[in-house]
Amino acid sequence: MNFLTFNNRFPTELACIEHFIKLRYAKGVVCPHCGATEHKIYHKSKTPKNFNCCNCNNDFSIFTNTIFYKSDTDLRKWYFAINAMINSKKGISALQLKREIDVTYKTAWRMLKLIRSAMGNADMSKAFEAIVEIDETYVGGKPHKENRNDDDNNPPKPPLKRGRGTSKTPVVGIKERNSKRVHATVALPNSDGQTLTGKQLFKILDTVCKDDTIVMTDDFSSYNILDRNPDKFLRLTVNHSIGQFATRNGIHTNGIESFWALLKRGIYGIYHHISTKYLQNYVNEFCFRANNKNNAFNALLTNCVFI
Ligand SMILES: [Zn+2]
Repeated sequence: MNFLTFNNRFPTELACIEHFIKLRYAKGVVCPHCGATEHKIYHKSKTPKNFNCCNCNNDFSIFTNTIFYKSDTDLRKWYFAINAMINSKKGISALQLKREIDVTYKTAWRMLKLIRSAMGNADMSKAFEAIVEIDETYVGGKPHKENRNDDDNNPPKPPLKRGRGTSKTPVVGIKERNSKRVHATVALPNSDGQTLTGKQLFKILDTVCKDDTIVMTDDFSSYNILDRNPDKFLRLTVNHSIGQFATRNGIHTNGIESFWALLKRGIYGIYHHISTKYLQNYVNEFCFRANNKNNAFNALLTNCVFI
């Protein structure tokens, strides 16, 4: 939604609240305390976001169990932040949002964090079928200049390893060919300190993909586990180590690799540094944008409700 459309649709906070009520209570407002339906529920005067149920005489807010609950920030500012986040291909920084909606840096940072948590609030179990591509990437920064200890006594260390074998954090991504939807997850070390084991990759695929999905991979040895389970998935391989990036019959992982390119441009260009602790939230943000090209705004407001 561009800025003019946004302004026309949500000129006041009341317009935002009415829009949220329509989305959250499509079948009519329900009391969360006793389950009474619309004809027993009344708006509280002067507070359009609060209702009173005359069946159990309890009050409730339309924002219960949502990211907006108990927030003092104007809902218009929230909507603006959501819209800005959806519109910017590589995301928006807390500093930028602070300037745009005139809140403190801390508030802007918190808002973005909560919006990201809503972006990750989608059930992806067995969501993919037919043909998927799977690949991994590594995210993380180089050490700070002052921490490198390069001087006459300490000669410069060799450059950090790139790709597999690096100390950066691995992220595994799966892209469905037909719908172009993406699911990506940070691969944390198992109890032996290993990441990207065959078992780990298989588990991720098994969670997201239906049985009999065709899985396109490169020649990374951890994917060999798929060859040992042919009754679950059919693996097709493109051999990156010999410089092959696509076969004539369309086996490649270029789709998920273009997603990595965008994720990295966002992380290094907008967010600069992300700790492993929060990395999954940022990955969710990029997945949400890739998966919700149409009507992303309402999709996000629906995801805001955690039940
Ligand atoms: Zn009630």
